[in-house]
Amino acid sequence: MKLFTVGPVEMYPNTLDIAGRQLPYFRTEEFSKIMLDIQNDLKALMHAHSDSKAVVLTGSGSAAMEAVVCDAFDEHDCLLIVNGGTFGARFVRLAQIHHIPYDEIILPFPEELTMQQLEVYKDKQYTALLVNIHETSTGQFYDIEMLSKYAHKHHMRLIIDAISSFLADPYDMEKYDIDCTIISSQKALALSPGISMIVMKEDFYKNYIENKPIKNLYLSIQEHVENMERGQTPNTPAVGIILELHDRLRQIQNEKIMNTLTATREKAMYFRKLVQKLPIKIPTYPLSNALTPLFFPNNEAQKVYHYLKDTYGIYVTPNGGTLSDILLRVGHLGNLQLQDYDELILRLQEVLS
Ligand SMILES: *Cc1c(COP(=O)(O)O)cnc(C)c1O
Repeated sequence: MKLFTVGPVEMYPNTLDIAGRQLPYFRTEEFSKIMLDIQNDLKALMHAHSDSKAVVLTGSGSAAMEAVVCDAFDEHDCLLIVNGGTFGARFVRLAQIHHIPYDEIILPFPEELTMQQLEVYKDKQYTALLVNIHETSTGQFYDIEMLSKYAHKHHMRLIIDAISSFLADPYDMEKYDIDCTIISSQKALALSPGISMIVMKEDFYKNYIENKPIKNLYLSIQEHVENMERGQTPNTPAVGIILELHDRLRQIQNEKIMNTLTATREKAMYFRKLVQKLPIKIPTYPLSNALTPLFFPNNEAQKVYHYLKDTYGIYVTPNGGTLSDILLRVGHLGNLQLQDYDELILRLQEVLS
């Protein structure tokens, strides 16, 4: 089996080793120390201000998206949501379910997000701009500089779901004055699925979350922040994935994050160059290093997906809904080497000839 998916992805030997061990009891000083290390490492890797708050939730990335939408905003706010695919649509559904007024910028595939599209909404007062910086369902990577400029000019808080971009693309909370970042375990971190992390600027936490009535106990950010002060969580967390995370963050700090980013970028560039030889197109909108979307004008996406999976145990990422016949996504996250892409290209040639 070889995973060119976006999550879960091919895990590193260290992570697999940790995943096979007996779990420790967690209400201990030793475990608290691990949680506090994680908090510091996350803040450092995201270039978050040192007084930022970081929490670990037990639940996949959508749990953290829901916690942020539900805890930080209410019926007195209005959100502007970039909806360029499945994950943008998830923010929209969360706003609907939690009765938070919103407007959405719908980007039909393969349209690119531009400043003109944002400017349409400039005269209305919004509390926050919510964006999946890499819309994983299409592979479009939005321009953080443009979004940050727009949000701050119009006095909006900036909430970024960086779940599939963090550790694949450069990310800097201070530089772009990002109020809140959401990530999860099974994408570029290459860990087991099941935990998600939220990093918040202190003033965003204080003004939007800290003193509000708790609406949802299990995902309450406030409860998590209060417990995190002593390196703990309000409930039993996914102890094993937290240990995987601790090890992985240490590894990335040791290797230097620039090297992690460069390695992912190298895989993406290598693959994109090879794809030019095939009768497949890559959409022209800006891309993250996390994945390469492949556009099949002859509706062969499903056929190719099943051929690779059933013949060779090679998993690329299929799309759902209206894009299911025309788009496949090839991931560059996790423990993959350049040679793995040689093999993939060979098999793609085979099925397309
Ligand atoms: C994977 C992902 C999520 C989270 O999805 P889960 O299935 O809850 O892990 C959210 N946003 C983006 C952009 C993602 O890529």
